[in-house]
Amino acid sequence: MDYDKLRQQMVDLQIISRGISDPRVLDAFRRVPRHIFVPEDMRDSAYSDCALPIGNGQTISQPYMVAAMTAQLKLKGNETVLEIGTGSGYQAAILSQLCQRVITIERVESLLEKAKKIIQQTGYNNIKFVTGDGTLGYPDSAPYDGIIVTAGCPRIPQPLVDQLKDKGRLVLPVGSTYQQVLTTVFKAGNEILTEESIPCVFVPLIGKFGWREV
Ligand code: SAH
Repeated sequence: MDYDKLRQQMVDLQIISRGISDPRVLDAFRRVPRHIFVPEDMRDSAYSDCALPIGNGQTISQPYMVAAMTAQLKLKGNETVLEIGTGSGYQAAILSQLCQRVITIERVESLLEKAKKIIQQTGYNNIKFVTGDGTLGYPDSAPYDGIIVTAGCPRIPQPLVDQLKDKGRLVLPVGSTYQQVLTTVFKAGNEILTEESIPCVFVPLIGKFGWREV
């Protein structure tokens, strides 16, 4: 399999064609080797236009969804970004190419360890890995220029809004357990502006300010 070629095609046919044009974002997707973040027996599907299972009932999101969420953070390069839901580590790897520092939180320890190992192979060294309930945010490194939640939220978790810098952006899927709407929260002084964009389907965010574990 020519993964490099498949990856360039993924960017052209799935990401640019759907309207994402930020050259820094496109460049990150052209570089980060998505196939190393999926289970070995699924590598040949890594650049397909869909989400894939990564174990523990969790998924690596569809490339376009990762790109759409990343683009909404409008990163310039000097930001600190918090990600909730490390999963495979792919989204964290993409973010690491676009900002100064990434903190990524995962509640399933075994997934976090796997993601950490894979990212070590890439040499991306501006990512901090944390195990825990990301609905509480991560106050130690707050406030953040950007926060991204890659699991479905029943509502906007207040700690995340509180840990956002003025002019910061929070991107998250909000809705029921089976369908959500991609939502961007923009903090402007005392004002909180929210904007909804595309429908999406994510695994549930489980925690104090998310869904209850069943
Ligand atoms: N961003 C990931 C996709 C994540 S799937 C990637 O690029 O592959 C969603 C992840 O969120 C799952 O791994 C799930 O275990 C995790 N998760 C769910 N609730 C969480 C919480 N409260 N805190 C941290 N992680 C959570």
